[in-house]
Amino acid sequence: MARPKEFEIAIIGGGIAGITLAAALSSRSIPFKIYEQAPAFGEIGAGVSFSPNAVQAMRMCHEGVHRAFEKVCTRNLWPSKQKVWFDYVDGFHDGDNYAFSICNELGQNGVHRARFLDEMIKLLPEGVAQFSKRLLSIDENASGRLRMNFEDGTTAEADAIVGCDGIKSRVRQCLFGAEHPCARPLYSHKYAYRGLVPMEKATEVIGEERAQNACMHMGPGGHVLTFPVEHGKILNIVAFKTDPEEWPDHQKLTRTSQREDLLRDFGHYSKELVELLSLTNPKLDVWAIFDLMDNPPPSYSKGRICIMGDAAHATSPHHGAGAGLCIEDSAMLAELLADDHVTSPAALEAVCATFDAQRRARGEFLMQSSRFIGDTYEWRAEGVGNDFQKIEAEINWRNDKLGNINMAEMCDVAKAELRDRLGATPRL
Ligand SMILES: Cc1cc2nc3c(=O)[nH]c(=O)nc-3n(C[C@H](O)[C@H](O)[C@H](O)COP(=O)(O)OP(=O)(O)OC[C@H]3O[C@@H](n4cnc5c(N)ncnc54)[C@H](O)[C@@H]3O)c2cc1C
Repeated sequence: MARPKEFEIAIIGGGIAGITLAAALSSRSIPFKIYEQAPAFGEIGAGVSFSPNAVQAMRMCHEGVHRAFEKVCTRNLWPSKQKVWFDYVDGFHDGDNYAFSICNELGQNGVHRARFLDEMIKLLPEGVAQFSKRLLSIDENASGRLRMNFEDGTTAEADAIVGCDGIKSRVRQCLFGAEHPCARPLYSHKYAYRGLVPMEKATEVIGEERAQNACMHMGPGGHVLTFPVEHGKILNIVAFKTDPEEWPDHQKLTRTSQREDLLRDFGHYSKELVELLSLTNPKLDVWAIFDLMDNPPPSYSKGRICIMGDAAHATSPHHGAGAGLCIEDSAMLAELLADDHVTSPAALEAVCATFDAQRRARGEFLMQSSRFIGDTYEWRAEGVGNDFQKIEAEINWRNDKLGNINMAEMCDVAKAELRDRLGATPRL
């Protein structure tokens, strides 16, 4: 029987990272609480998809997380495309535009973020979440417990704190200071329009094969990805544009835009793609793509505080793997905390240090590779250009490194390191 845990973990933030960590801790009977700044759990209503590593990690977190994913996900509609991640096409020139297909064992799958989160929340015990708790600072009380100070004037205590508070993480600032470069995510010089189009209309313009299955339309300085959501009733469109300018307001990462702006950016692309983009709503949201690639945190932990998910490795979305790495983080941290050698607060610093040592290189690879891969879709990556064979090769080895992992093995290696560290630390 597992030895009881004489500590409590505080999770700051209830996005995909915080909720999957909570589910993973809950399934291992590890005491925790979540502190979320919003008045309720919630995600923006956009889509997110996962690669095979994420599915392994979901299972390791909690079988219920994987069930939640299966319940809400939409795959490519054609049976022959079940292993296709994206068909890549030349979105710039008219005529036969097929370039290549990237496949993996899972194929493409899209979930509506809010629905996925709603399903996962059902896995959590009553009363573990506190809302409208915006973390401002962290200090230590007289008995050595960590104290969190919230904007509403209240405080709470825990034995370790996990920052799952996203790209603008306050916990990261608490660890390294508000003046440290890692406190400032930077504009990746790409922005993205997001649109939804009824499937019948999209099919009329780009045909069944392209509309009903995930497709990446490549072109110079911009690319458009499309995939079916809502069990095939709707086509989700995300149009990325490289932008040499600065994003005007680093506090506000979205703005409302017009369809005319989208058509101005992509008007010189293929006739078919322009017709598809013309089907979007007159008003569109635009997201600035920020990341931590240029300013990565020097560590994912300090003492008994650690950061994970976007708080640690906020990435541009071109690998479609940011949320997947959040779930990997959750699985590994939960496995470390569940280790039988970890029963008292004295072991928590070693857990956080091991987490940093095991996760940082992968987080940094994702951020760098994602920017590079985004540029290959836009024929602007150095040494690759618009050579489709080279683009395909770049995507394949990078996706393979991210997607084809053995999560159980990674956790075993981490636990071995943890035990080494604990062997060197007197246990209380
Ligand atoms: C356009 C786009 C498309 C993407 N597509 C994909 C994809 O297809 N596949 C994929 O794997 N990834 C994708 N990603 C990346 C993925 O969305 C993120 O990696 C993931 O959602 C991050 O989750 P998180 O829980 O770490 O952070 P968030 O989702 O940002 O959650 C942070 C939570 O912390 C709370 N919080 C913040 N500050 C505080 C505070 N001070 N006190 C208390 N609470 C606080 C917030 O309210 C929020 O609930 C995409 C990203 C973008 C921008």
